[in-house]
Amino acid sequence: MNSTITNDPRWRRMRKRDTNADGTFFYSVKTSGVYCLPSCKSRPANPENVAFHPSSEEARQAGFRPCKRCKPDQFEQQKGKYAMRETIQYMTRESSLGLTLVALSDKGVCAILMDDSVHTLTTDLKARFPEAIVKHNDAALRETADAVCSFIDQPKGRFTEKLDVRGTEFQRRVWEQLLRVPAGKTASYTEVAMALGAPNAVRAVAGACAANALAVVIPCHRVVKSDGALSGYRWGVERKRRLLEAEGAR
Ligand SMILES: [Zn+2]
Repeated sequence: MNSTITNDPRWRRMRKRDTNADGTFFYSVKTSGVYCLPSCKSRPANPENVAFHPSSEEARQAGFRPCKRCKPDQFEQQKGKYAMRETIQYMTRESSLGLTLVALSDKGVCAILMDDSVHTLTTDLKARFPEAIVKHNDAALRETADAVCSFIDQPKGRFTEKLDVRGTEFQRRVWEQLLRVPAGKTASYTEVAMALGAPNAVRAVAGACAANALAVVIPCHRVVKSDGALSGYRWGVERKRRLLEAEGAR
């Protein structure tokens, strides 16, 4: 056993395939003649054959070829691409309406989603932000999630945390209109469409309500059918009924 290598902290990071170590060092394998990123998925090398290199350049100068699997020579470019992607952090916790996911971009709260399953919630979040790096982070989200859950418990007035609202121009106009419907009141899809000066856009209004990523904070639950029937709700009609009851609208 080559204890110099196995006692090197880089050895442990490489054995853990730690992606955070990528770019901080490279390792080469004498028997295969290749060098790799610490996170390379290839099978573990014998420590006797391993050497560490501070850069891709130095591994090449020592006579090693870049591994075809982890492409360590392209890492710097990939890192550039990775850095361009936005990061969205989230946590899940219980509110009075059940399991709630709260997500934060660097501009503000970008998603409030509700479902009984953490898996469904995170899948939904990733589908809504397909370009983003989505990360679970309880510590960063705790205060925001507390504010969101208190608001869900008592949705009076406007939510005061900064929001990152994303949608088409029409969707944003619909959502802005929904914010004018106070707690305890409801509006029909037709009334919302009329208020926007687009009386024929009832279906599009319903579509915008269904696309709302900020449950309760943008009160799409206050939109009902013209006959007062609850109609659908992206997060389940039972949650809609409970919300409207709590607000005194039913
Ligand atoms: Zn590799």
